[in-house]
Amino acid sequence: MGHSLGRRTGKNRAGYAAYLKSPAWAWRRQRWFRDCRRRGFEPACQVCGARVAELGTLDLHHTSYKGVTIGDDGTFVAKEDDAALLPYCRDHHEALHRILDDRRRDYWGWSRPRATAVVTRILHKKYGGLK
Ligand SMILES: [Zn+2]
Ligand SMILES: [Zn+2]
Repeated sequence: MGHSLGRRTGKNRAGYAAYLKSPAWAWRRQRWFRDCRRRGFEPACQVCGARVAELGTLDLHHTSYKGVTIGDDGTFVAKEDDAALLPYCRDHHEALHRILDDRRRDYWGWSRPRATAVVTRILHKKYGGLK
């Protein structure tokens, strides 16, 4: 059976990188955008509100890798919750990670969804409303 990518350990870092380059993720990503639009929402950066029409693409940030598994043959299965994926423009996705990853200790004890929400609010105060 496959194993989960859900745990954030150093060992899994290569696993995340490989996953984000996999066909399973490319497909899951497309499906997220499609489902979002079907519900009547055009995806926009959580910080500045930029849309695909303006940028050509948006990144999707994972607040959880729950549902992502890798089989013994190295094939990924992508079953994240829609709610575990949040759109950001590339700049603000990178800014989010700089804070989440570099100041990890400040957020120790917080869940990743909570830390993501708090950092997004900080970034929004700083960069929101420019567009
Ligand atoms: Zn942005
Ligand atoms: Zn991310």
